[in-house]
Amino acid sequence: MAILRIQRGASALVPKLRNDMKTLKCDLCDVTAEGETFEDWMTALRPHYMEAHADVMSDSSRGKEEMEKWMADNRARFDAA
Ligand SMILES: [Zn+2]
Repeated sequence: MAILRIQRGASALVPKLRNDMKTLKCDLCDVTAEGETFEDWMTALRPHYMEAHADVMSDSSRGKEEMEKWMADNRARFDAA
């Protein structure tokens, strides 16, 4: 007598909205940071970078171009993760 009821809303068809965190290593060492987007990942990595790679951060020879290259390289890594 069991009647299978199809749940209203067909939730299985709705794309998952939960956070889809990616874990990606620092580009200079094996420490990992998590983020749902590349921006989140960068934010999560920043404190580690300041602490472990302060010399890189404060290297004044790293101009805007290097920063943009870093972002492009790491965005590509993040997207591929
Ligand atoms: Zn690192």
